[in-house]
Amino acid sequence: MSPSDFFPQGAHLDVLQSIVETAIDGILLIDHRGKVLMANSAVTALFGYSAEEMLGENISILMPPPDRENHDSYIRNYRETGVKKIIGIGREVKGRRKDGSVFPLRLAVSSIVIEKQEYFTGILQDLTEMKAAQQKIINLNRELEKNVQDKTTELQDTVNLLLETNRQLNASIEKHKIYETALVAARDELKKSLEKEIELSSLKSRFVSMASHEFKTPLSSILSSASLISKYVLTEQEPDRTRHVERIKSSVNHLNGILIDFLSLTRMDEGRYTPEISGFSLSELLRELQAEADDLLKKDQTLICHHHTEDLQMQSDKKVVRNILYNLISNAIKYSEEGKEIICTVEPDDSGICIRIEDQGMGIPLDDQKHIGSRFFRAANAINVPGTGLGLNIVQSYLNTLKGELSFESTPGEGSVFTIKLPINYEA
Ligand code: ADP
Repeated sequence: MSPSDFFPQGAHLDVLQSIVETAIDGILLIDHRGKVLMANSAVTALFGYSAEEMLGENISILMPPPDRENHDSYIRNYRETGVKKIIGIGREVKGRRKDGSVFPLRLAVSSIVIEKQEYFTGILQDLTEMKAAQQKIINLNRELEKNVQDKTTELQDTVNLLLETNRQLNASIEKHKIYETALVAARDELKKSLEKEIELSSLKSRFVSMASHEFKTPLSSILSSASLISKYVLTEQEPDRTRHVERIKSSVNHLNGILIDFLSLTRMDEGRYTPEISGFSLSELLRELQAEADDLLKKDQTLICHHHTEDLQMQSDKKVVRNILYNLISNAIKYSEEGKEIICTVEPDDSGICIRIEDQGMGIPLDDQKHIGSRFFRAANAINVPGTGLGLNIVQSYLNTLKGELSFESTPGEGSVFTIKLPINYEA
């Protein structure tokens, strides 16, 4: 189907002419030497040449170098070899305007043969705008990529900063924890030394009050006996002299006892006491103590000892066990009235040996019981009985070292039972 099918003879050529002339794309016709035979107005508008300026000129005037110089050889090569490099194929090439500016265009070349002469038509499409749009997209893409990259770097930097801050924060938390632990330790240490200081100062004042009370009686008794002795000059006054010498001796012994207690406590406080372990007969030791206690017993008081066996052997610090028992027996005697009975029972138990010293004495007031064993503590009902409040504290310390225990039960006005438990064989 062609324009000749619709238009009368002769008119269809005008139709074709107008189609070519008004086409949006540029349409060119050249001969086999490259001479421009026809160019529509799209071509003239595109290149800035008038139709007259182009007609008869070599098509290469519309090309920038190197095509400008080589175009003739392109046609020649094709005509000699028949190899089509552009004919029948659309291609992107560069065009050159009259003013010398170069622009992109799409070129589709086709060849036609009329009366054995070969001609070439070229259809040209200006790609300037499309290229510009493409470039814009590329630029926008680049910009976008750059922005994304910048933002990613920024984000990475922020993340790194955050990680670093976090690391520093963790490090500072750790440091603070260490400081806090050190601070708590220092505070505890300070608290302990403060408590020790308070305890020490309270001990000092309790010692001063105990010493001024406890030392006074024996010292004044020594003083009065000494001055009386000097007055008993006659031979027949020998018994009086002896009586006062005995009083002096007993007072000195009493003071000595207090000092020994003090030395024992100091030794234990300073950690200088280490048990001297040996094998001995507890039954034998109790017999010795019973004999010693005879001197302490008040009028009509009795000390009864119940042994479980005749010969109870144990491995411990004999001197210390003696001191412990002496302390408890002398207390039972001291805090009981004349005529009362004191019973000492020795029996083995699951973990060793159990010794009970029971009296029918004054007992310990209920309110005071929780303080018994504290250094210098003396119950309210014992104020008029001589004492230092050190004995039970020493007993407790000794028992701790010998891995023993001390407990007591007491009913005020009825009596007390002090119980000690000791391993039969001490093991370090
Ligand atoms: P001291 O007898 O020199 O005062 P202790 O440490 O031996 O010191 O005893 C502390 C206190 O416990 C005594 O002052 C007394 O109040 C009370 N106590 C100890 N043993 C007895 C006992 N057998 N009966 C009543 N009270 C006792």
